[in-house]
Amino acid sequence: MEARINRRSFVFGASCSLCGSMILPSCTQVPLTNRSQLNLYDSNLPIILMGGGVAGLPKIYPNEKALNQEVDKTYSRFLSKAKEDKILLDNTDESKKIEEIGKEIYTSLDTFYINKREKNPVENFNWQFALIESDTKNAWCMPGGKIAFYTGILPVCKNDDGIAAVMGHEIAHAFARHTVEKLTQASMMQMATIGISRSKYAELLNKSFRVGNVGGNVYNSVVKYGIFLPFSRKMESEADYLGMGFMNLAGFNIKEPAKLWQRMMAGQEGRVPEFMGSHPSPDNRSKKFLEWESEILDKFPQV
Ligand SMILES: [Zn+2]
Repeated sequence: MEARINRRSFVFGASCSLCGSMILPSCTQVPLTNRSQLNLYDSNLPIILMGGGVAGLPKIYPNEKALNQEVDKTYSRFLSKAKEDKILLDNTDESKKIEEIGKEIYTSLDTFYINKREKNPVENFNWQFALIESDTKNAWCMPGGKIAFYTGILPVCKNDDGIAAVMGHEIAHAFARHTVEKLTQASMMQMATIGISRSKYAELLNKSFRVGNVGGNVYNSVVKYGIFLPFSRKMESEADYLGMGFMNLAGFNIKEPAKLWQRMMAGQEGRVPEFMGSHPSPDNRSKKFLEWESEILDKFPQV
């Protein structure tokens, strides 16, 4: 088993840190990268977050469908608030562009799976895209495919290929179910520590839900809903790889991500743009994109 995973899983390594230490059904694998991933839903177990619900009661997400329904509501609330504040860009050339590129990428992913005669693991996602007027250089994706771009990132994207690079990356986070993986880890950690000290446990919980350095932008306050967690470097790297693959499926130029990253860091004077929060260092990242090129062309041919 171990040897098979190692052979098939290229750069991300095959270890799943929680699997070794807990008695659990076996890890599943992220489609297309085969990285081992702990996902309670794949074992038909609910994700339980102590104190995450109303009046300090545990918050239970019984299955992925229920989680995504909740995310739907959160995303709608986010959009209504943005609309109220007149920063939701609707029906502008730029907002249409974002939607168009998002759609091109997810429909290409559909075609890719049809061509392979395999089931698309995210065929049930209801993809949605929004553009928000804000100087913040950011874009994000909630589970189930709810994506937002901030206008601040558009000059960095510079062209359609740059938008596709960021879009591919965000779609990849949803595709690889990174949020479910983070929630699973948080849930497992809580289960493991419960009973040791209730108060310490609550402290830990609070910490694990606070994303550092949100830049005081009110629209980052979506973090308070607890489904918007910082991803690990491994996840970021995986989203880079898959995102590059997805943009190639849709016929975008895969030379752009490396350039995008250089632009992202240019003129920042040491300040890390929001989008790069827990991302690997830009130099390292640009190098990776170059390394992956031939593999991407081979594994993710334009559909
Ligand atoms: Zn990311």
